[in-house]
Amino acid sequence: MQLFGILLAVFFLAASDCRADFIFDPDVPLAIREQLKNDLAFLGSLEGKKVSSFHRKIFGSLSGKNYVGFFEKRIKEIGLDACGGSIAFACVVPLLEDNKMYFAPNFSIYSLPQITRVMMLIHESRHTEARQNYWAHLVCPDPFVDENGKQIVGTITGKSLAGRPACDASEFAAYGLDRIFMRNIEKNCDNCGQKVRMDANIFGSAALDRIIDPRAKRRLLRDLPDSK
Ligand SMILES: [Zn+2]
Repeated sequence: MQLFGILLAVFFLAASDCRADFIFDPDVPLAIREQLKNDLAFLGSLEGKKVSSFHRKIFGSLSGKNYVGFFEKRIKEIGLDACGGSIAFACVVPLLEDNKMYFAPNFSIYSLPQITRVMMLIHESRHTEARQNYWAHLVCPDPFVDENGKQIVGTITGKSLAGRPACDASEFAAYGLDRIFMRNIEKNCDNCGQKVRMDANIFGSAALDRIIDPRAKRRLLRDLPDSK
């Protein structure tokens, strides 16, 4: 009986090893570790029956399991870093540690909606893909304005993006993924509340602003149009 107990304990230990256990740098505060755990649980809970074709191509169906799998396959370690300046919330540092994500000070300074935090997890995951040159961002034009001549700024920081490496050309780079994820959450998530859908709308639109190739922008709009 005692042997059975020991065998059971060994089995449970082995089983718990199958979970994604991130390696945290020692200076990552407990609050951030807990928040990541809660955010991944939230991300894992999202469900929907329909998806756009770009969503299906990248994530498959609208299932929390797919999103968490996408993240956990790519990110294994978590640290803290300045991430190159005042507009960043998180980053990966290609070539140094391909499977490590860093949270920047902004991540703790600003209070972000939960759906935006999980969008950032997906965004940073994309930057681990070495075969695509880590989907490195392009420098935004300077001046960087929308079709009405209004300056395009960071949605949370309000800081100018002109001349900063915060734009993309491809619809499948990290900001395109933000857009595809958020528009599908807004329109197709069956168990998301109104606030989540509203936040997804705001940040999905902001992600589209950062796509500077007009053809890629049109393809994203065709995949799931903007709400009017
Ligand atoms: Zn990025």
